[in-house]
Amino acid sequence: MKRKIAITALSLSLGFGAFTYTTAHAESLSDIHKKQAENAAKKAKKNKEMSKVKEQQKDLLNDLSQINEKLATTENEIESKKQAISKTKSEIEKLQKEIKVLEKRIKERDAILKERVRSMYESGGSTGYLDVILGSKSFGDFIDRMVSLNVIAQSDENILKEQREDKKNVEEKKVRVESKLASLNAKLNELNALKSDLNKQKADKKNIVKKLKKKKDHIDAEMKDLKERDAILAAQEEAVKAEIERAKKEEAARKAREAAAAKAAQAKAAQASKPASSGHSSSSSSHSSSSPEPTPAPTPSGHGMFIKPAAGAFTSGFGSRSGEYSGFHPGVDIAAPGTVPIVAAADGTVIRSYLSSSYGNCVFISHYIDGQLYTTVYAHMRSRQVSNGQTVHQGQVIGYMGSTGWSTGQHLHFEIHKGEWNYQKSNAVNPMQYIN
Ligand SMILES: [Zn+2]
Repeated sequence: MKRKIAITALSLSLGFGAFTYTTAHAESLSDIHKKQAENAAKKAKKNKEMSKVKEQQKDLLNDLSQINEKLATTENEIESKKQAISKTKSEIEKLQKEIKVLEKRIKERDAILKERVRSMYESGGSTGYLDVILGSKSFGDFIDRMVSLNVIAQSDENILKEQREDKKNVEEKKVRVESKLASLNAKLNELNALKSDLNKQKADKKNIVKKLKKKKDHIDAEMKDLKERDAILAAQEEAVKAEIERAKKEEAARKAREAAAAKAAQAKAAQASKPASSGHSSSSSSHSSSSPEPTPAPTPSGHGMFIKPAAGAFTSGFGSRSGEYSGFHPGVDIAAPGTVPIVAAADGTVIRSYLSSSYGNCVFISHYIDGQLYTTVYAHMRSRQVSNGQTVHQGQVIGYMGSTGWSTGQHLHFEIHKGEWNYQKSNAVNPMQYIN
């Protein structure tokens, strides 16, 4: 009877196992393919975005070089204007010197002319002249009056003419140079304004280029992330197959061992009961069926059990959290100082062991337990001791606790996914409910 039950249990378990194996496998593979297709679509979209950004960046860089050219031209113009201004200034200085000479001459002539008037007066000329002369409003007026009164000698008259011409000439030169200087100053102001405009544009462009670079960096990071996810999904497909094979083989081997042990125990019991008697067969049989067998209760590997993957305190729980690291926390954090080994939480197959930009040194393991797939994730490790596709056993050291990737202190970030890992982490479950 016991044998019959054992056989039934075995065949049931195998049948059930085979059923779940195929179903779970088919489902997981189609799920993986779906996720891969989604990822590919996302990557294509990102690639398109990226080439658009690169195009924009190219245009902006062209604009920038044009502006740089303009700026250089303007700077040259400013330089030549400055030279023109300095030339004009030296012209003005030269003229001012000439003016000084002329003015000195004029002053001397003036003194000579005044002397003439004084001597004319002293020699007893008409007092009327004096009135005329004293009534002059300006030097020009004075000369005009003298000339019109015909009291000046021809030679003196020539001096006066020269005097007037010199003065007129000087005044004209002064005006001309000053207007030239004024126009140059105006031009310089215009150029300076243009220069500051261009500088501002240049600064604006620089900002845009900076922004574009930032955007490109962001897209680069996202592309890298997508590639990482793709690699996980691709590796997961292989690992899931291998893991299901492994679990199936181990399960079959264990069942065979159990069946052999049960058979041996039964044969031993039958032998032991023989010499004991003829007559007490019913009692003996009842004893044998009720006696506890040495075989341990069947414990399928894991049996929904995961062990705590590292020693240490739980410092952050599963679920949404607030504060600096707000958002959904898809796992638990375990922290401890020093050299802390990290072990596989259950028997399984390593999906990926790699260095992620965010998770640092991390290991993904696929577990097939009682017809159910699980995925565990171990992140921020100092070092990794396993490689892609490797079979691991519960308690086996897979790495050491660290603070690589986006981590601020030594801890293990541990995730359990009921099913395959996916980008949305929709299969993440609270590890506290699975850790034994
Ligand atoms: Zn964490």
